[in-house]
Amino acid sequence: MKPFVYNALPSRVIFGSNTLYQIKDELRLLGKNRGLVLSTAGQHKAASQVSNLLGEFSVGCFNGAVMHTPITVTNDALKIVMETKADCIIAIGGGSTIGLAKAIALNTNLPQIVIPTTYAGSEATPIIGQTENGVKTTQRTLKVLPEVIIYDVELTKTLPVPITITSAMNAIAHAIEALYSKDTNPFISMLAEQGIEALARAIPIIYHSPLDSTARSDALFGAWACGTCLGAVGMSIHHKLCHTLGGSFSLPHAETHTVILPHAVAYNESATTEVMARVAKALGVSNAAQGLYDLAAQHGAPTSLKEIGMNASDINLAVEIACASPYWNPRPIEANAIHNLLSNAFYGKRP
Ligand code: NAD
Repeated sequence: MKPFVYNALPSRVIFGSNTLYQIKDELRLLGKNRGLVLSTAGQHKAASQVSNLLGEFSVGCFNGAVMHTPITVTNDALKIVMETKADCIIAIGGGSTIGLAKAIALNTNLPQIVIPTTYAGSEATPIIGQTENGVKTTQRTLKVLPEVIIYDVELTKTLPVPITITSAMNAIAHAIEALYSKDTNPFISMLAEQGIEALARAIPIIYHSPLDSTARSDALFGAWACGTCLGAVGMSIHHKLCHTLGGSFSLPHAETHTVILPHAVAYNESATTEVMARVAKALGVSNAAQGLYDLAAQHGAPTSLKEIGMNASDINLAVEIACASPYWNPRPIEANAIHNLLSNAFYGKRP
């Protein structure tokens, strides 16, 4: 066994079906009694349900969360926090809503109870990305790590199938980059393999039967496992490219991860043979990059940057941005090879 250092992150995790009904008890356990519930506009009914379950412990809802945590939205939400004298933030939704909860925690130190309804994994990380004047900056600080995560499998059954598939691919990406991270450790590697396996098993079942409880449970467990990997160790080329494409060209988050992942894996394959064999095994395929491409393609997910809104003329700029600031990756970052990677991803070529 190689020597390692592992900083485990503190958080209370409640996992199951109909766990949402424990929300009031969880607020009480934190010693709080004024919860403000956050959601996107699309999930306002789910937020109202949480608020009703809290009863006299709810100070209301803020339904304005949007992707990439714009500072303007955070400022609007902070006004409500002050006006209502909220003493706890409760987020129900995906990474966008949880991002807003984290931004409020960063500004106020209020505790967070988060109820994830996608597989993005933000709930398990001390990472926050915020957007101001069109520029997204990311930081790591324990101030934004949610205190309590309530995973309720029932809530994920309404997640539309196309978002389910791309969100699951987004989660798998965290686990793969954790497996070859330079600061990985045996616990995180074990979790990563379990997470990939659970999600790969769940995707085909949910694609045909979105309400299947066992598959939805597997996928949500996978999301937690993969999110924990993202929160624990450093990421490399895949996340860097997705950050560049999302931030500079406004490409959608989970779809971008889905398209880039097989190509990022192919890029790193020669430098991570043993890890890729483990990924392939967890996916139940013989080649990791091809297996990931097929997993997306066979379940209706996008496979090209072209189809998710990128212009061919942006490839050169994307290469430039991605190569501008040096970062660690198992295979050195070479501009020509990155250009090939992005061209293949742009046209949706099977690796
Ligand atoms: P999202 O939160 O934007 O959700 C996508 C859409 O699905 C939204 O319209 C939402 O309302 C809807 N939705 C969510 N759950 C639903 C459900 N169960 N039923 C019906 N509709 C549902 O998307 P996401 O991919 O979860 O999050 C993306 C954002 O999260 C990005 O801004 C990304 O940068 C951030 N993120 C951050 C981290 C981190 O560690 N900081 C990790 C992953 C993602």
